[in-house]
Amino acid sequence: MHYFDYKNGELYAENVSLRDIAAQVGTPFYCYSAATIRRHIKMFQDSFKGRDALVCYAMKANSNQAVLTLIAKMGAGVDVVSGGEISRAIKAGFPVSKIVYSGVAKTSAEIRQGLELGIHCFNAESEPELERINQVAGQMGVKAPVSVRVNPDVDGGGHEKIMTGKSENKFGIPWQKVDKVYELIATLQNLEVVGIDLHIGSQITDLKPFSEAFERIGSLVAKLRGVGHKIQHVDFGGGLGVPYKNDNDIPPHPDEYAAMINRVAGDLGVKYIFEPGRMIAANAGILVGEVEFVKHGDGRDFVITDIGMNDLIRPTLYDAYHDIKPISEPQNGFETRIVDVVGPICETADYMAKGRELPIFKQGDLLAVMSAGAYGAVAANTYNTRALIPEVLVDNDRFAVVRKRLEVEEIIALDIVPDWI
Ligand SMILES: *Cc1c(COP(=O)(O)O)cnc(C)c1O
Repeated sequence: MHYFDYKNGELYAENVSLRDIAAQVGTPFYCYSAATIRRHIKMFQDSFKGRDALVCYAMKANSNQAVLTLIAKMGAGVDVVSGGEISRAIKAGFPVSKIVYSGVAKTSAEIRQGLELGIHCFNAESEPELERINQVAGQMGVKAPVSVRVNPDVDGGGHEKIMTGKSENKFGIPWQKVDKVYELIATLQNLEVVGIDLHIGSQITDLKPFSEAFERIGSLVAKLRGVGHKIQHVDFGGGLGVPYKNDNDIPPHPDEYAAMINRVAGDLGVKYIFEPGRMIAANAGILVGEVEFVKHGDGRDFVITDIGMNDLIRPTLYDAYHDIKPISEPQNGFETRIVDVVGPICETADYMAKGRELPIFKQGDLLAVMSAGAYGAVAANTYNTRALIPEVLVDNDRFAVVRKRLEVEEIIALDIVPDWI
């Protein structure tokens, strides 16, 4: 669900015309819908009403400060994966008690940062990491709240580059070894167990891998408690998919997800933590660009736009599918053509769509790449010395630029030419 719809023949973000935004900020740009983000957070929170549950938005999906501030104001927490993201969380107003910290390579400086602030939990991914957390906490004379990320060895399906819950992935502790790791924690004086966590992958549209993994966690919690470890919360991670395509697998509704969780973990008497990222942000954002040229190749037509793989890497990296819509609504009975939608970058892999049947585009037309709110702007870069594109947030009938364009002069100015050249 999102609030990007045609009105009077033009695509709107809520009650703002995207053509008007394009005229003011130039293309390409990201546009986010505040109402969509709020709706997704609320849907998730409502699914667990009456339970001790905290939704910790996984900010790596979209960490714009305006987006984060909006989410913090809804009482949500946040899942971070770096010291930089901790700084973003604090700046956006998330209470430290609602910050959980994931990631496989936390540095001593980052651990110190988290401990000084007093974040809720360090989600640890290995024995040496636990030893490092223990050491830093010892130096500071504090106890570090920790949870162990379990690798349940389940296959979430989907693209292999976004699966994290199989034994061959770098994430977490193999589930068969988890009790040994809790034993290790009990011997480390500056650690305090608060929970257990997992995150099995992303864009998962089937409940089965989740329920398989969560059943493993359920039995682990019982076992760990049996030997005296204080498991107060279970952090179920993120991973719920979104519909990228109208005829796609429809992902489970958060209510179905909640019913499954209550079935497998309802009797454990633990606080629930969730880390949704994509489900909150993906359909709340689009990427708007302009057609530079239409080129009729040998047996193939190219719609060449000003949107590069440096602006949105998902098609290149994951073969991801994004719907593409013209900003001007096609009229009834419109003609279509099968085209590749490509960008300006000098790489064959620079495309938004391949062999796609689309309405006929011509030079100067505006178009929108849909469902680009998650893992879009956060992964953008300036390859080919292209400006880093702006981000815009719409809320009902107003909009604001929430990240300014990083201009080419500013990018070049970062380089330093030593005077001995
Ligand atoms: C990326 C990530 C998430 C969010 O995943 P989504 O698929 O976007 O919901 C949650 N938890 C951890 C530990 C992650 O690395």
